[in-house]
Amino acid sequence: MAQARKPQENELMEKIVSLCKRRGFIFQSSEIYGGINGFWDYGPLGARLKWNVRELWWQAMTSRDDIVPLDASIIMHPKVWQASGHVDTFSDPMVDCKLCKARFRADQLHETPCPRHPSKMASECEGEKTEPRAFNLMFKTTVGPIETEENIAYLRPETAQAIFVQFKNILETSRQKAPFGICQIGKAFRNEVTPRNFTFRSREFEQMELEFFIRPDEVVERIAGSVARLDEAADLSAPQKNWGWQLWHKYWVEERLCWYESIGLPRDSLEEYWQTPEELAHYARATVDILYKFPFGTQELEGIAARGDFDLKAHQEASGKSMEYFDEEARIRYIPHVIEPSAGVDRLVLALICNAYTEETVPNEKGQPEQRVVLRFHPRVAPIKVGVFPLLRNRPELVQKAREVRDLLRPHMTVFYDESGAIGRRYRRQDEIGTPFGVTIDFDTLGETPELKDTVTVRDRDTMAQIRVKISELPAYLLQKLR
Ligand code: ATP
Repeated sequence: MAQARKPQENELMEKIVSLCKRRGFIFQSSEIYGGINGFWDYGPLGARLKWNVRELWWQAMTSRDDIVPLDASIIMHPKVWQASGHVDTFSDPMVDCKLCKARFRADQLHETPCPRHPSKMASECEGEKTEPRAFNLMFKTTVGPIETEENIAYLRPETAQAIFVQFKNILETSRQKAPFGICQIGKAFRNEVTPRNFTFRSREFEQMELEFFIRPDEVVERIAGSVARLDEAADLSAPQKNWGWQLWHKYWVEERLCWYESIGLPRDSLEEYWQTPEELAHYARATVDILYKFPFGTQELEGIAARGDFDLKAHQEASGKSMEYFDEEARIRYIPHVIEPSAGVDRLVLALICNAYTEETVPNEKGQPEQRVVLRFHPRVAPIKVGVFPLLRNRPELVQKAREVRDLLRPHMTVFYDESGAIGRRYRRQDEIGTPFGVTIDFDTLGETPELKDTVTVRDRDTMAQIRVKISELPAYLLQKLR
């Protein structure tokens, strides 16, 4: 039997970073020039993994009747960021070290190593620090050929604002009725003071955001019945006018937790953290962070905020355009309130890799113990779904049959075809990148054992068990397992 182990926490991160580079998941951006801090590139496997994550989120959102998508520009009118409050308040408190000139986040001095003495934290080194100053996290650029103050624009620090700004256009063209949502996936940029923990805190990253617009005083019987936990959780002693947003908020927390589970993050690897009143942003009525137990600590994957009508109201005031919604049934006009589940693609990709990484001692073909590294990805997120291998590369009849099997599967799933090296080595290579199934074409496939003609071996990545499946039934067999 396989003996699985997770390495120690700091050792684990080193191994994960090294595997990501070695196997082509994640590279440092501009590496040949020494890299650029806080920017990362996704290699062939990382790009597929990331794509799968986006696609699963996109499906979960847009397969519903009550959610429509948006794909907005990264650079928007600078007034958007004035109205949203980002120009004035999207900042971190920063201090400079007078001795080594390094800059630190004032609230992270205890956890950031000193560049001169990496064994000490910045708070412990002898360098005197300046008073904290606000540092705006938005990247600036200029639009057009002339670099003047008036031409300054910002790279969006979140995708959400475009949804608010386009609220009316989408409402009118999509004929949605509240409650309904608008979702978007896209790049966001923050000039983070201390990017760290691999891709966890980057300066360029991707968000998956939903703004779900609701009538705040609605009593939401429709959802109260549909999610059992909601009924228990609902505080029925609260004033009736609050039920709507509280229930929708809890509903989305539950939906999102279920989604994480459905793509392979077990519930016990996640934590639900309800921000205290002191921690809440000034516009938020309640915020729940979904945290993942990363090797470097339990940290945020997604924030789910009940933002009231802050955003639409701010844009209505700044633009002079009405953001009101007219409820034809109730004959009332109001600015909808918003529940915002906001997740990071890169953090989730990192969590999936951390969760999947396993080292095992298993018997090799000769029965001797051997180490293997396995990424136990859920089949839905795995970058490659199946490896196809002819048993021997120097037997044309095996190779030809294997290529036929590859071509049979390719329209249905991502296939990796590999004919080089011992079969055990080829299995290990796929284990290390998380491919859930391996299909081997051997002499029995060609009819050496007549009753096994036109069957192949299907090997399961996790159990390493092998079964024989008819080629004609292979696509259906694998598709059912991949679901
Ligand atoms: P943190 O407190 O960790 O900086 P945040 O609360 O500022 O995060 P939000 O503004 O709520 O983050 O953004 C929503 C999501 O976007 C986060 O939950 C995270 O997954 C992702 N995200 C935010 N900042 C970064 C970053 N610098 N690098 C990678 N992902 C990020």
